[in-house]
Amino acid sequence: MSLNAQQWLQQIRQLPLPEKVRIMNVCGGHERSITQAGLRSALPDNIELIPGPGCPVCVCPEEDVYEAIQIALNEEVILVAFGDMLRVPVNVRKSEVRSLEQAKARGADIRPVASPTDVVRIARDNPDKDVVFFAAGFETTTAPVAAMLAEGVPDNLLLLLSGRLTWPAVAMLLASDEPGFDCLVAPGHVATVMGAKEWHFVVEQHQLPAAVAGFNNESLLAAFYSSLRQLLEDKPFLDNCYPELVTEEGNAQAKKHLYEVMQVTDANWRGIGTIPASGFGLTRKYTAHDARLKYPGYQDEARKRAGEMPPGCDCARVVLGKIYPTECKLYGAACTPRNPIGPCMVSDEGACRIWWSNVRKP
Ligand code: SF4
Repeated sequence: MSLNAQQWLQQIRQLPLPEKVRIMNVCGGHERSITQAGLRSALPDNIELIPGPGCPVCVCPEEDVYEAIQIALNEEVILVAFGDMLRVPVNVRKSEVRSLEQAKARGADIRPVASPTDVVRIARDNPDKDVVFFAAGFETTTAPVAAMLAEGVPDNLLLLLSGRLTWPAVAMLLASDEPGFDCLVAPGHVATVMGAKEWHFVVEQHQLPAAVAGFNNESLLAAFYSSLRQLLEDKPFLDNCYPELVTEEGNAQAKKHLYEVMQVTDANWRGIGTIPASGFGLTRKYTAHDARLKYPGYQDEARKRAGEMPPGCDCARVVLGKIYPTECKLYGAACTPRNPIGPCMVSDEGACRIWWSNVRKP
């Protein structure tokens, strides 16, 4: 059915909804589109839209950020990272360096990059130095990083990898006693790369309605409508409401590179803990580009920091959809985009930052 946003809203309003329905999204881009368009207030009051684990910067463990800061400060390297990551604070004493941005101010050579192409260019332009690429991201970011390595990079380009898979976090929530949602809107960007088929488990193992959505109002509202109808009719299936880009199998070339260069590992998520088979590590063929092997001296100290969160920061519960950003006591008081306490207020994909920039209140 091809309808405009108003027509989709009308369709949703005509549904005989139960007292409360909770729809979770797992993509920072979805949360941004929902919040910027004001979809929460446009939908009937009994529909709750819950932002879930959709921000890769927010789930990057504190110890990885700490390790990146230490390598940048103590080794003769150029450290590059996507811009959001530079402002993510670690939980150390005020007199110590708390972010890559502060390390840069102390003289470390740290440069923001927008793409793997930038990273390769910097490595080629600086053959006498190691260029350490702190690469944190979900499948959509990790696949181009893998393609970069598969296509060949200079020897001085090293990876400090903090890649994560999206679906295991949803699987972990669904395996818990209280997942906290009744329907799932699956991430369009991730499904473009990995294929819609990764999300069938939501329906097949948990009998929950699910729909893959794109990023405009029409696609999101179509996904909400589809999942609500599935719920009402008690006939869950995985609907693809982003057929322009999403196929069942995803991007074959991107996946080929990804699994040639990366292997799936257990991984720690900031404030959440270890989620089985939810991270990426380099395969044996690419270990020469592993910054952790070249600069191992910071790992013991970094590992001791596992589980560190700033006092009072509720990012983990925000990421898991257990509370809304405004329910964190620090939101808008001690924690603002100008003075972020947790990563959810730093990243453009963090729910706290998105809410503060667009609505400020629920
Ligand atoms: Fe963390 Fe700040 Fe969000 Fe609270 S408002 S959860 S401290 S990022």
